[in-house]
Amino acid sequence: MSVQKGLTTKGKEMYLYEGFEYIYHYTGKAATKYVCRELRKFKCNAYLIVNRKNGMVTIHRRHMHNPKLQELREAEQAVEKMKRAVEVRGENPKSVVENFQPNLSTKVLQEMPSISALHRRLSRANSRHCNEDGVPVGMLQYLLYDSGTSTDDRMMIFCKTEMVREFEKSDLWFCDGTFRVASQKMGFKKLYTVHFFKNNFAFAIIFALMQTTSKKVIYEKFFEIIKNKLNLSFGPKMMICDFDHRAIIAFKSKFPATRVAGSHFLLGQNIIKSLKSFSLYKLYEEDAAFKFLIQKLYCLSLLPPREVRTAFYLLCEIEFTEYQELPAVDKFLKCFRRYYISSRAVYPISFWNHNQTVLDGYPKTNNFLNGLHNILHNNFQIDPTLPNFFKTAFKQMDLQYEKLVKPPESCYPSNKYIQLPEKLKELLENYVLTDGQQRSTDDIITFLGTAALLTPIKDVSPISASD
Ligand SMILES: [Zn+2]
Repeated sequence: MSVQKGLTTKGKEMYLYEGFEYIYHYTGKAATKYVCRELRKFKCNAYLIVNRKNGMVTIHRRHMHNPKLQELREAEQAVEKMKRAVEVRGENPKSVVENFQPNLSTKVLQEMPSISALHRRLSRANSRHCNEDGVPVGMLQYLLYDSGTSTDDRMMIFCKTEMVREFEKSDLWFCDGTFRVASQKMGFKKLYTVHFFKNNFAFAIIFALMQTTSKKVIYEKFFEIIKNKLNLSFGPKMMICDFDHRAIIAFKSKFPATRVAGSHFLLGQNIIKSLKSFSLYKLYEEDAAFKFLIQKLYCLSLLPPREVRTAFYLLCEIEFTEYQELPAVDKFLKCFRRYYISSRAVYPISFWNHNQTVLDGYPKTNNFLNGLHNILHNNFQIDPTLPNFFKTAFKQMDLQYEKLVKPPESCYPSNKYIQLPEKLKELLENYVLTDGQQRSTDDIITFLGTAALLTPIKDVSPISASD
């Protein structure tokens, strides 16, 4: 029996010899390697080498399994072809089977999977088939809303409906947008996700793909649809989100009773960005005292809200003095005041203050959402298409859903982002004023210093699209 060369149904190069199939693995300097098709199934280490110079084939046979009958191979190939007809071309599974069967010999038919198994496999392939919008047909059941292709502001919203009940009951939601997981090729600019907090974990329940992100009306529509389609009369007690006005205002208009807060993590990222824009990042990295001061500034968010403004001016007057000769530092502080401190601040103190959040025992950040965004992003780097995006997104949601329905003790790892340092809560509890007590300058500076040590700015490049 001679070595035969061919292609798999998926178009990969392969060799066939004595009933064993060898699939292309890689090309080295001197030779090309093909590995046994059953490598995974049987942990089979057999392989075939083709010398690149003279084309000589050597086979290293130590198969952990028997060779395949010609008929079985043909049966497997037929199933693969049927699957592709259904998945890629969207043909009807039933008629695909009807069309295929007459062409197969009796011997091959005997090797085919049972008709029910075949139908199961084809219906799985069918659910992977994408409609003309690139949405897998099997995922359409989760499509909550689609504004349609006729508009330039297209938005598609998907919801893992099995989780709605838990979502509704949750006290805490997170919303976050990212630009990293969308592209021209996909036809969308932004991915916006909603998560809810349960058992120390943030479950992704809703995601939207948006073509336009600059309009407030997009977010209004988004929250309106969520509220109406999911029949939510109230929002959660609290919602933590990125620093995006439009989304914040839109959310408040639909869920006025919910406290909306900016993620503490993202406040830190905004500070870092601002330092960079004033060319102060080098100083921040190299001068430990300056870095500590910036961390204190970041921890203003942990003070009782009514004390934040006073504390900011204290920091400027007492602590920042030796740096204020640098014009950039002065500009940086003025900018901080305009964005976060002044009475007409872009982000009012109440929005980014986390004193109550910590006292209530909630996480003060939404940065663990980045886990999901990172997975999507990494997959996206490999294959930036809508079908791949949907495949990955739904797979992640399915995994999270499994976590939700399984008993908590077995599957909830301690999450370092969520596990709030008890010490921080203790610090805040001890800082509460009793009647008649006065706050001294030292108290405030000491508080900020201690808080800064407990919860420093995480120095990572910003991954959220909050700007
Ligand atoms: Zn093998």
